[in-house]
Amino acid sequence: MARIVMKFGGTSVADLDRIRNVARHVKREVDAGHEVAVVVSAMAGKTNELVGWCREASPMHDAREYDAIVASGEQVTAGLLAITLQSMGVHARSWQGWQIPILTDNAHGAARIQDIDGSFLVKRFGEGQVAVVAGFQGLAPDNRIATLGRGGSDTSAVAIAAAVKADRCDIYTDVDGVYTTDPRIEPKAKRLARISFEEMLEMASLGAKVLQVRSVELAMVHKVRTFVRSSFEDPDAPGMGDFDNPPGTLICDEDEIVEQQVVTGIAYAKDEAQISLRRVADRPGVAGGIFGPLAEANINVDMIVQNISEDGSRTDMTFTVPSADVGKAIAVLDENRETIGFDVIQHDDGMAKVSVIGIGMRSHAGVAAIAFKALAERSINIRAITTSEIKISILIDAAYTELAVRTLHSVYGLDKQ
Ligand code: ADP
Ligand code: ASP
Ligand code: MG
Repeated sequence: MARIVMKFGGTSVADLDRIRNVARHVKREVDAGHEVAVVVSAMAGKTNELVGWCREASPMHDAREYDAIVASGEQVTAGLLAITLQSMGVHARSWQGWQIPILTDNAHGAARIQDIDGSFLVKRFGEGQVAVVAGFQGLAPDNRIATLGRGGSDTSAVAIAAAVKADRCDIYTDVDGVYTTDPRIEPKAKRLARISFEEMLEMASLGAKVLQVRSVELAMVHKVRTFVRSSFEDPDAPGMGDFDNPPGTLICDEDEIVEQQVVTGIAYAKDEAQISLRRVADRPGVAGGIFGPLAEANINVDMIVQNISEDGSRTDMTFTVPSADVGKAIAVLDENRETIGFDVIQHDDGMAKVSVIGIGMRSHAGVAAIAFKALAERSINIRAITTSEIKISILIDAAYTELAVRTLHSVYGLDKQ
Protein backbone atom coordinates (compact mmCIF):
# COMPACT_ATOMS: atom_id res chain seq x y z
CA MET A 1 0.00 0.00 0.00
CA ALA A 2 1.24 3.46 -0.87
CA ARG A 3 0.07 7.02 -0.41
CA ILE A 4 -0.63 8.98 -3.59
CA VAL A 5 -1.71 12.55 -4.30
CA MET A 6 -3.44 12.88 -7.68
CA LYS A 7 -3.95 16.32 -9.24
CA PHE A 8 -6.24 16.99 -12.20
CA GLY A 9 -6.00 20.23 -14.20
CA GLY A 10 -8.74 22.27 -15.85
CA THR A 11 -9.05 20.44 -19.18
CA SER A 12 -9.11 17.11 -17.32
CA VAL A 13 -12.26 18.19 -15.45
CA ALA A 14 -13.77 20.36 -18.20
CA ASP A 15 -17.20 18.64 -18.14
CA LEU A 16 -19.05 15.87 -16.37
CA ASP A 17 -17.84 13.17 -18.77
CA ARG A 18 -14.26 14.12 -18.10
CA ILE A 19 -14.93 14.23 -14.36
CA ARG A 20 -16.27 10.67 -14.63
CA ASN A 21 -13.09 9.67 -16.42
CA VAL A 22 -11.02 11.30 -13.68
CA ALA A 23 -13.05 9.40 -11.09
CA ARG A 24 -12.09 6.16 -12.84
CA HIS A 25 -8.40 7.07 -12.52
CA VAL A 26 -8.95 7.68 -8.81
CA LYS A 27 -10.91 4.46 -8.36
CA ARG A 28 -8.12 2.48 -10.05
CA GLU A 29 -5.63 3.60 -7.39
CA VAL A 30 -8.12 3.12 -4.55
CA ASP A 31 -8.93 -0.40 -5.76
CA ALA A 32 -5.19 -1.14 -5.82
CA GLY A 33 -5.27 -0.50 -2.08
CA HIS A 34 -3.54 2.91 -2.04
CA GLU A 35 -4.37 5.85 0.20
CA VAL A 36 -5.42 8.64 -2.13
CA ALA A 37 -5.92 12.38 -1.83
CA VAL A 38 -7.06 14.28 -4.92
CA VAL A 39 -6.47 17.93 -5.82
CA VAL A 40 -8.59 19.55 -8.52
CA SER A 41 -8.52 22.69 -10.63
CA ALA A 42 -11.51 24.66 -11.82
CA MET A 43 -13.22 23.41 -14.99
CA ALA A 44 -11.40 24.64 -18.11
CA GLY A 45 -12.03 28.33 -18.79
CA LYS A 46 -13.79 28.89 -15.45
CA THR A 47 -10.96 30.79 -13.75
CA ASN A 48 -10.54 33.03 -16.81
CA GLU A 49 -14.24 33.78 -16.75
CA LEU A 50 -14.15 34.64 -13.03
CA VAL A 51 -11.06 36.84 -13.47
CA GLY A 52 -12.83 38.57 -16.37
CA TRP A 53 -15.85 39.29 -14.19
CA CYS A 54 -13.64 40.87 -11.51
CA ARG A 55 -12.00 43.13 -14.10
CA GLU A 56 -15.33 44.07 -15.60
CA ALA A 57 -16.84 44.88 -12.20
CA SER A 58 -13.90 47.14 -11.41
CA PRO A 59 -10.47 47.33 -13.04
CA MET A 60 -8.97 48.33 -9.67
CA HIS A 61 -10.62 45.51 -7.74
CA ASP A 62 -9.72 44.56 -4.19
CA ALA A 63 -7.40 41.52 -4.13
CA ARG A 64 -9.30 39.93 -1.21
CA GLU A 65 -12.55 39.99 -3.14
CA TYR A 66 -10.77 38.74 -6.27
CA ASP A 67 -9.69 35.72 -4.21
CA ALA A 68 -13.20 35.15 -2.86
CA ILE A 69 -14.46 35.08 -6.44
CA VAL A 70 -11.80 33.13 -8.34
CA ALA A 71 -11.40 30.45 -5.66
CA SER A 72 -14.97 29.36 -6.29
CA GLY A 73 -14.11 27.47 -9.49
CA GLU A 74 -12.14 24.81 -7.64
CA GLN A 75 -14.88 24.38 -5.04
CA VAL A 76 -17.39 23.40 -7.72
CA THR A 77 -15.06 20.80 -9.23
CA ALA A 78 -14.16 19.30 -5.84
CA GLY A 79 -17.83 18.80 -5.01
CA LEU A 80 -18.66 17.38 -8.44
CA LEU A 81 -15.79 14.89 -8.29
CA ALA A 82 -16.76 13.83 -4.75
CA ILE A 83 -20.35 13.18 -5.89
CA THR A 84 -19.15 11.24 -8.93
CA LEU A 85 -16.79 9.11 -6.82
CA GLN A 86 -19.57 8.43 -4.32
CA SER A 87 -21.84 7.26 -7.14
CA MET A 88 -19.11 4.79 -8.12
CA GLY A 89 -19.00 3.39 -4.60
CA VAL A 90 -15.85 5.25 -3.50
CA HIS A 91 -15.92 6.81 -0.04
CA ALA A 92 -15.10 10.41 -1.00
CA ARG A 93 -15.56 13.88 0.50
CA SER A 94 -14.63 17.35 -0.79
CA TRP A 95 -12.60 19.82 1.26
CA GLN A 96 -11.79 23.48 0.79
CA GLY A 97 -8.47 25.10 1.64
CA TRP A 98 -9.65 26.66 4.91
CA GLN A 99 -11.00 23.38 6.23
CA ILE A 100 -7.69 21.51 6.18
CA PRO A 101 -6.31 24.21 6.64
CA ILE A 102 -3.80 25.13 3.96
CA LEU A 103 -2.24 28.22 5.50
CA THR A 104 -0.82 30.89 3.22
CA ASP A 105 0.72 34.33 3.58
CA ASN A 106 -1.26 37.52 3.06
CA ALA A 107 -0.30 38.14 -0.58
CA HIS A 108 -3.83 37.89 -1.95
CA GLY A 109 -3.91 36.82 -5.58
CA ALA A 110 -0.40 35.35 -5.46
CA ALA A 111 -0.19 33.85 -2.00
CA ARG A 112 2.45 31.34 -0.93
CA ILE A 113 1.65 28.30 1.14
CA GLN A 114 3.21 28.65 4.59
CA ASP A 115 2.09 25.47 6.26
CA ILE A 116 -0.18 22.47 5.89
CA ASP A 117 -0.82 20.28 8.89
CA GLY A 118 -0.84 16.85 7.24
CA SER A 119 -2.65 15.21 10.16
CA PHE A 120 -6.10 16.26 8.92
CA LEU A 121 -5.67 14.32 5.68
CA VAL A 122 -3.85 11.43 7.35
CA LYS A 123 -6.91 11.03 9.55
CA ARG A 124 -9.10 10.87 6.42
CA PHE A 125 -6.81 8.15 5.01
CA GLY A 126 -7.31 6.27 8.28
CA GLU A 127 -11.07 6.41 7.76
CA GLY A 128 -10.67 5.00 4.25
CA GLN A 129 -11.81 8.31 2.78
CA VAL A 130 -10.62 9.84 -0.47
CA ALA A 131 -10.25 13.54 0.28
CA VAL A 132 -10.95 15.70 -2.77
CA VAL A 133 -9.24 19.02 -2.11
CA ALA A 134 -9.96 22.27 -3.94
CA GLY A 135 -6.62 23.36 -5.42
CA PHE A 136 -5.33 26.92 -5.90
CA GLN A 137 -6.61 28.15 -2.53
CA GLY A 138 -5.73 28.48 1.13
CA LEU A 139 -6.43 30.49 4.23
CA ALA A 140 -4.51 33.74 4.79
CA PRO A 141 -3.59 35.22 8.21
CA ASP A 142 -6.40 37.76 7.79
CA ASN A 143 -8.81 34.78 8.02
CA ARG A 144 -9.80 35.14 4.39
CA ILE A 145 -9.48 32.81 1.43
CA ALA A 146 -6.33 33.38 -0.64
CA THR A 147 -5.36 32.07 -4.09
CA LEU A 148 -1.92 30.93 -5.15
CA GLY A 149 -1.44 32.59 -8.55
CA ARG A 150 -2.40 31.15 -11.93
CA GLY A 151 -1.62 27.47 -12.31
CA GLY A 152 -1.51 27.20 -8.51
CA SER A 153 -3.27 23.85 -8.18
CA ASP A 154 0.01 22.14 -9.09
CA THR A 155 1.51 23.79 -6.02
CA SER A 156 -1.43 22.76 -3.83
CA ALA A 157 -0.86 19.15 -4.90
CA VAL A 158 2.87 19.05 -4.30
CA ALA A 159 2.54 20.89 -0.97
CA ILE A 160 -0.10 18.40 0.18
CA ALA A 161 2.07 15.49 -1.00
CA ALA A 162 4.94 16.87 1.09
CA ALA A 163 2.69 17.42 4.12
CA VAL A 164 1.31 13.87 4.14
CA LYS A 165 4.65 12.36 3.08
CA ALA A 166 3.09 10.82 -0.01
CA ASP A 167 5.05 8.24 -1.97
CA ARG A 168 4.09 9.95 -5.19
CA CYS A 169 2.41 13.07 -6.57
CA ASP A 170 0.81 12.56 -9.99
CA ILE A 171 0.01 15.70 -11.96
CA TYR A 172 -2.59 14.64 -14.54
CA THR A 173 -2.99 17.03 -17.44
CA ASP A 174 -3.88 17.21 -21.15
CA VAL A 175 -0.45 16.07 -22.37
CA ASP A 176 1.14 12.77 -21.46
CA GLY A 177 4.30 14.19 -19.92
CA VAL A 178 6.89 16.92 -20.11
CA TYR A 179 8.19 17.36 -23.65
CA THR A 180 11.39 18.83 -25.07
CA THR A 181 9.23 21.84 -25.90
CA ASP A 182 5.54 22.70 -25.96
CA PRO A 183 4.10 19.91 -28.16
CA ARG A 184 1.38 22.31 -29.26
CA ILE A 185 3.83 24.42 -31.20
CA GLU A 186 6.37 21.77 -32.19
CA PRO A 187 4.80 18.44 -33.17
CA LYS A 188 8.31 16.97 -33.36
CA ALA A 189 8.78 17.51 -29.61
CA LYS A 190 9.69 14.34 -27.71
CA ARG A 191 8.36 13.23 -24.36
CA LEU A 192 11.04 13.08 -21.70
CA ALA A 193 11.04 9.99 -19.48
CA ARG A 194 12.77 12.02 -16.77
CA ILE A 195 13.78 15.62 -16.22
CA SER A 196 15.83 17.01 -13.34
CA PHE A 197 14.27 19.35 -10.80
CA GLU A 198 16.65 22.11 -11.84
CA GLU A 199 15.82 21.85 -15.52
CA MET A 200 12.09 21.67 -14.81
CA LEU A 201 12.42 24.75 -12.64
CA GLU A 202 14.05 26.63 -15.53
CA MET A 203 11.52 25.30 -18.06
CA ALA A 204 8.62 26.38 -15.85
CA SER A 205 10.01 29.80 -14.98
CA LEU A 206 10.91 30.45 -18.61
CA GLY A 207 7.39 29.82 -19.84
CA ALA A 208 6.51 26.09 -19.99
CA LYS A 209 3.26 26.29 -18.09
CA VAL A 210 2.91 22.53 -17.68
CA LEU A 211 3.87 23.00 -13.99
CA GLN A 212 3.67 26.10 -11.83
CA VAL A 213 7.20 27.20 -10.84
CA ARG A 214 6.48 27.07 -7.13
CA SER A 215 5.32 23.44 -7.36
CA VAL A 216 8.69 22.44 -8.80
CA GLU A 217 10.51 24.34 -6.03
CA LEU A 218 8.50 22.51 -3.40
CA ALA A 219 9.01 19.14 -5.07
CA MET A 220 12.76 19.79 -5.15
CA VAL A 221 13.03 20.94 -1.55
CA HIS A 222 10.79 18.24 -0.09
CA LYS A 223 11.93 15.51 -2.48
CA VAL A 224 8.41 14.75 -3.65
CA ARG A 225 8.39 12.07 -6.35
CA THR A 226 6.37 13.93 -8.98
CA PHE A 227 5.06 12.56 -12.26
CA VAL A 228 3.40 14.49 -15.09
CA ARG A 229 0.97 12.24 -16.94
CA SER A 230 -2.19 12.28 -19.02
CA SER A 231 -5.75 12.09 -17.72
CA PHE A 232 -7.02 11.40 -21.23
CA GLU A 233 -5.74 7.88 -21.47
CA ASP A 234 -8.07 5.00 -20.65
CA PRO A 235 -7.81 4.71 -16.86
CA ASP A 236 -7.76 0.93 -17.12
CA ALA A 237 -5.29 0.56 -20.00
CA PRO A 238 -2.35 -1.76 -19.25
CA GLY A 239 0.40 -0.12 -17.23
CA MET A 240 -1.72 2.80 -16.00
CA GLY A 241 -1.60 1.52 -12.46
CA ASP A 242 2.10 0.58 -12.53
CA PHE A 243 3.36 1.93 -9.24
CA ASP A 244 7.09 2.31 -9.94
CA ASN A 245 6.91 3.22 -13.59
CA PRO A 246 3.67 4.96 -14.45
CA PRO A 247 3.43 6.37 -17.98
CA GLY A 248 4.59 9.99 -18.02
CA THR A 249 7.57 12.08 -16.99
CA LEU A 250 9.31 11.79 -13.63
CA ILE A 251 10.76 14.99 -12.17
CA CYS A 252 13.78 13.81 -10.22
CA ASP A 253 17.30 14.43 -8.98
CA GLU A 254 19.95 14.94 -11.60
CA ASP A 255 21.78 11.74 -10.64
CA GLU A 256 18.69 9.65 -11.40
CA ILE A 257 19.09 10.55 -15.07
CA VAL A 258 21.39 8.14 -16.81
CA GLU A 259 21.72 9.60 -20.28
CA GLN A 260 22.27 13.31 -19.83
CA GLN A 261 21.83 15.49 -22.91
CA VAL A 262 23.57 18.83 -23.34
CA VAL A 263 20.25 20.51 -24.15
CA THR A 264 17.07 19.10 -22.62
CA GLY A 265 14.42 21.51 -23.80
CA ILE A 266 13.30 24.81 -25.28
CA ALA A 267 10.84 27.11 -23.52
CA TYR A 268 9.24 30.33 -24.63
CA ALA A 269 7.32 33.19 -23.07
CA LYS A 270 5.32 35.66 -25.09
CA ASP A 271 3.94 38.93 -23.74
CA GLU A 272 7.29 40.41 -22.89
CA ALA A 273 8.00 44.07 -23.42
CA GLN A 274 11.29 45.88 -23.82
CA ILE A 275 11.93 49.27 -22.27
CA SER A 276 14.98 51.36 -23.10
CA LEU A 277 16.17 54.42 -21.25
CA ARG A 278 18.36 56.46 -23.56
CA ARG A 279 21.26 58.60 -22.44
CA VAL A 280 21.18 57.78 -18.76
CA ALA A 281 23.83 59.44 -16.61
CA ASP A 282 26.55 56.76 -16.22
CA ARG A 283 27.43 56.92 -12.54
CA PRO A 284 27.38 54.64 -9.50
CA GLY A 285 23.84 54.08 -8.23
CA VAL A 286 22.06 54.52 -11.53
CA ALA A 287 20.88 50.88 -11.70
CA GLY A 288 19.55 51.14 -8.16
CA GLY A 289 17.83 54.38 -9.09
CA ILE A 290 16.00 52.68 -11.95
CA PHE A 291 15.26 49.23 -10.60
CA GLY A 292 14.56 50.17 -6.98
CA PRO A 293 11.33 52.07 -7.74
CA LEU A 294 10.24 49.37 -10.21
CA ALA A 295 10.71 46.69 -7.56
CA GLU A 296 8.74 48.76 -5.05
CA ALA A 297 5.91 48.91 -7.60
CA ASN A 298 6.02 45.08 -7.77
CA ILE A 299 7.14 45.09 -11.38
CA ASN A 300 9.17 42.06 -12.35
CA VAL A 301 12.19 43.13 -14.35
CA ASP A 302 13.81 40.30 -16.24
CA MET A 303 16.59 40.74 -18.81
CA ILE A 304 18.83 43.77 -18.31
CA VAL A 305 21.35 45.11 -20.81
CA GLN A 306 23.53 48.12 -20.05
CA ASN A 307 25.91 49.54 -22.61
CA ILE A 308 29.30 50.89 -21.67
CA SER A 309 29.26 54.58 -22.47
CA GLU A 310 31.77 55.84 -24.97
CA ASP A 311 32.86 58.90 -23.01
CA GLY A 312 31.97 57.72 -19.52
CA SER A 313 29.11 60.16 -19.11
CA ARG A 314 25.94 58.71 -20.73
CA THR A 315 24.74 55.16 -21.36
CA ASP A 316 21.65 53.24 -22.51
CA MET A 317 19.79 50.86 -20.22
CA THR A 318 17.48 48.27 -21.76
CA PHE A 319 15.37 45.75 -19.85
CA THR A 320 12.25 43.63 -20.14
CA VAL A 321 9.03 43.53 -18.11
CA PRO A 322 5.76 41.63 -18.65
CA SER A 323 3.70 43.43 -21.33
CA ALA A 324 0.88 43.91 -18.85
CA ASP A 325 3.19 46.05 -16.66
CA VAL A 326 4.56 48.36 -19.35
CA GLY A 327 2.24 51.29 -18.65
CA LYS A 328 2.85 51.10 -14.93
CA ALA A 329 6.64 50.80 -15.43
CA ILE A 330 6.77 53.88 -17.62
CA ALA A 331 4.71 55.85 -15.15
CA VAL A 332 7.08 54.87 -12.32
CA LEU A 333 10.16 55.79 -14.38
CA ASP A 334 8.63 59.11 -15.38
CA GLU A 335 7.96 59.93 -11.75
CA ASN A 336 11.64 59.30 -11.03
CA ARG A 337 12.97 61.03 -14.13
CA GLU A 338 14.81 63.73 -12.15
CA THR A 339 16.66 61.37 -9.83
CA ILE A 340 17.53 58.84 -12.53
CA GLY A 341 18.49 61.43 -15.12
CA PHE A 342 17.66 60.02 -18.57
CA ASP A 343 16.78 61.57 -21.87
CA VAL A 344 14.00 59.45 -23.41
CA ILE A 345 12.08 56.30 -22.70
CA GLN A 346 11.31 53.93 -25.56
CA HIS A 347 9.27 50.79 -25.34
CA ASP A 348 8.36 47.91 -27.54
CA ASP A 349 5.59 45.47 -26.73
CA GLY A 350 5.22 42.22 -28.59
CA MET A 351 8.51 40.65 -27.61
CA ALA A 352 9.09 36.99 -26.78
CA LYS A 353 11.79 35.24 -24.83
CA VAL A 354 12.99 31.91 -26.14
CA SER A 355 15.22 29.82 -23.87
CA VAL A 356 17.48 26.82 -24.32
CA ILE A 357 17.80 24.71 -21.17
CA GLY A 358 20.08 21.85 -20.18
CA ILE A 359 22.31 20.93 -17.23
CA GLY A 360 24.78 19.46 -19.73
CA MET A 361 25.67 23.04 -20.72
CA ARG A 362 27.74 23.34 -17.57
CA SER A 363 30.43 21.20 -19.09
CA HIS A 364 30.07 22.11 -22.76
CA ALA A 365 31.42 25.20 -24.47
CA GLY A 366 29.91 26.76 -27.57
CA VAL A 367 26.28 25.86 -26.88
CA ALA A 368 25.08 29.46 -27.12
CA ALA A 369 26.93 30.15 -30.37
CA ILE A 370 24.91 27.39 -32.06
CA ALA A 371 21.67 29.19 -31.18
CA PHE A 372 22.88 32.59 -32.37
CA LYS A 373 24.02 31.19 -35.71
CA ALA A 374 20.81 29.21 -36.26
CA LEU A 375 18.63 32.26 -35.55
CA ALA A 376 20.77 34.45 -37.80
CA GLU A 377 20.31 31.98 -40.64
CA ARG A 378 16.57 32.46 -40.25
CA SER A 379 17.03 36.26 -40.18
CA ILE A 380 15.67 36.44 -36.64
CA ASN A 381 17.08 39.48 -34.90
CA ILE A 382 18.29 39.05 -31.32
CA ARG A 383 17.41 41.97 -29.06
CA ALA A 384 18.89 40.82 -25.78
CA ILE A 385 20.60 37.76 -24.33
CA THR A 386 20.99 36.44 -20.81
CA THR A 387 22.69 33.25 -19.76
CA SER A 388 23.22 31.12 -16.68
CA GLU A 389 25.08 27.86 -16.16
CA ILE A 390 22.15 25.84 -17.49
CA LYS A 391 20.22 28.18 -19.77
CA ILE A 392 20.42 30.74 -22.55
CA SER A 393 17.54 33.19 -23.01
CA ILE A 394 17.12 35.22 -26.15
CA LEU A 395 14.71 38.11 -26.68
CA ILE A 396 13.16 38.35 -30.15
CA ASP A 397 10.08 39.80 -31.87
CA ALA A 398 7.08 37.70 -30.81
CA ALA A 399 6.09 37.16 -34.45
CA TYR A 400 9.07 34.82 -34.78
CA THR A 401 8.41 32.76 -31.64
CA GLU A 402 7.26 29.56 -33.33
CA LEU A 403 9.98 29.74 -35.96
CA ALA A 404 12.66 30.32 -33.31
CA VAL A 405 11.41 27.49 -31.08
CA ARG A 406 11.35 25.03 -34.00
CA THR A 407 14.74 26.18 -35.26
CA LEU A 408 16.39 25.74 -31.87
CA HIS A 409 14.59 22.46 -31.23
CA SER A 410 16.00 21.10 -34.45
CA VAL A 411 19.51 22.53 -34.23
CA TYR A 412 20.07 20.95 -30.80
CA GLY A 413 18.96 17.55 -32.09
CA LEU A 414 15.72 17.36 -30.11
CA ASP A 415 13.38 16.58 -33.04
CA LYS A 416 11.57 13.25 -32.94
CA GLN A 417 12.88 11.01 -35.70
P1 ADP B 1 -3.62 21.92 -16.54
O1 ADP B 1 -4.90 22.59 -16.86
O2 ADP B 1 -3.74 20.43 -16.52
O3 ADP B 1 -2.94 22.46 -15.34
P2 ADP B 1 -1.86 23.46 -18.26
O4 ADP B 1 -2.54 24.03 -19.44
O5 ADP B 1 -1.57 24.34 -17.10
O6 ADP B 1 -2.67 22.17 -17.81
O7 ADP B 1 -0.47 22.79 -18.71
C1 ADP B 1 -0.45 21.84 -19.74
C2 ADP B 1 -0.01 22.51 -21.05
O8 ADP B 1 1.34 22.92 -20.93
C3 ADP B 1 -0.01 21.60 -22.24
O9 ADP B 1 -1.26 21.57 -22.86
C4 ADP B 1 1.07 22.20 -23.14
O10 ADP B 1 0.54 22.94 -24.22
C5 ADP B 1 1.81 23.17 -22.24
N1 ADP B 1 3.26 22.99 -22.28
C6 ADP B 1 4.15 23.99 -22.44
N2 ADP B 1 5.39 23.52 -22.49
C7 ADP B 1 5.31 22.18 -22.33
C8 ADP B 1 6.28 21.13 -22.29
N3 ADP B 1 7.59 21.38 -22.40
N4 ADP B 1 5.85 19.86 -22.12
C9 ADP B 1 4.52 19.61 -21.99
N5 ADP B 1 3.57 20.56 -22.05
C10 ADP B 1 3.94 21.84 -22.20
N1 ASP C 1 -7.76 27.31 -11.86
C1 ASP C 1 -6.52 28.01 -11.60
C2 ASP C 1 -6.00 28.64 -12.89
O1 ASP C 1 -6.61 28.50 -13.94
C3 ASP C 1 -5.50 27.14 -10.94
C4 ASP C 1 -5.04 25.96 -11.74
O2 ASP C 1 -5.71 25.55 -12.69
O3 ASP C 1 -3.99 25.40 -11.41
O4 ASP C 1 -5.00 29.28 -12.85
MG1 MG D 1 -1.75 24.16 -15.04
